[in-house]
Parts: sequence; structure tokens; C-alpha cells
Amino acid sequence: MKDRVPVVGVLALQGDYQKHLEILDSIDVRGVEVRLAEDFDRVERLIIPGGESTVMTELLGRLRMEDKLASFVSKQPVWGTCAGMILLASGVNDRSVKTLGAIDIAVDRNGYGRQVFSTVAPATLALNGHRESLDLVFIRAPRVTRVGEGVTTLLKCGDDPVLLAQNNVLVSAFHPELTGSALLHDYFARKFAADFS
Ligand code: GLN
Repeated sequence: MKDRVPVVGVLALQGDYQKHLEILDSIDVRGVEVRLAEDFDRVERLIIPGGESTVMTELLGRLRMEDKLASFVSKQPVWGTCAGMILLASGVNDRSVKTLGAIDIAVDRNGYGRQVFSTVAPATLALNGHRESLDLVFIRAPRVTRVGEGVTTLLKCGDDPVLLAQNNVLVSAFHPELTGSALLHDYFARKFAADFS
């Protein structure tokens, strides 16, 4: 019998959530928009998309979603991309962002510079016995400045770690929904374990 695929929530307050839902749909994973605190009860995994971490911080507070998000992030598989990575980090160089401290990394917001310095970088990703060439899209991406001991770096771009994991948390500095590949979504939805170590 095939394993049941978990329901994947996508935080849908702001940013590039729609594209994540489309990719999940294309690989037969049920994706659900998370817009209210009670929506966390309907999902088993969560993607926090790219967008603006300052705006997400503001909206999470206004919509009173902070406690539910913190509790979800403390135990369920969560994947933060770009702005989502910033929210999950343990430290950021900007006090207008409230980080969750879910993964032991520090990041610099806009660490590669402004929008004009956004780039596309080719990379080869090896995950779970699959290898794929990807174009990594960086849009005002966070730069990782510290990686804690318990954190695994899964992919680097030059010297910079851009895909990392610890326990139940996966983070990517790039926009995986724009790579033209569903490999990472498939990995997160079907394989990523809550006890990643
Ligand atoms: N620079 C944005 C932030 O600080 C992140 C950019 C992105 O998600 N593409 O939140």
C-alpha cells in the first residue's frame, strides 16, 4: 500500500504562496492555504514562502497567529524559503523581524544586496538518491552568517550555505518554487522527517 501523503499548509498571508500550491498540486500533494490561526489544525506540514519577513511579522501579530505558528514550528515539519527562512532563524540583523528560533542559524536580511543584485545560479542538488540540475533564484535573499552545530548544510552556492536542516526544520535562501523543479517539494512533502539530524 502506498503511504498516505501529509497535507501541506502554505502560509498565505503575503508573498509567493500561490506558486507553492501549484507545485504541490502538480505532484499530487494536497496543499492548503493557512490564513488564520485555526488553519494550522488542518495541516501536517507547513511551507513559509518568500515575500517580506517584516510584513509577515506584522501580519502574524495582527491576525494573532504567532502562538499557533510557534507551537506548530516546534514539532511539525516546516520549510521556510527566503523570507520564511528569516522567520525561522535564531538570529537576524533587523529588529523589525520577530524570529522563531526554530533553526540554529543567523542570517542577514538582503545579505546579497538590493533587488538589482538578485541572481540565478546553477546548482546540482542530490537528495534521497535523486540528482537534479536546478537554477537557484535569489531575490533579495538572506545570507547565512552563522550555522549552529546541530544544523546540516544540504547545499551551498559558492561558500554560502543555501539549503539547511535541523530536526523538523528545513530552510532555503533561494526560491524553490521558481527553480523549474519539483524535487524539493516532493522531498519536503513525502520524505522530510520531523527528526532530521
Ligand atoms: N528580503 C526579504 C525579507 O527580508 C526576503 C526576500 C524574499 O523572500 N524573496 O524578508
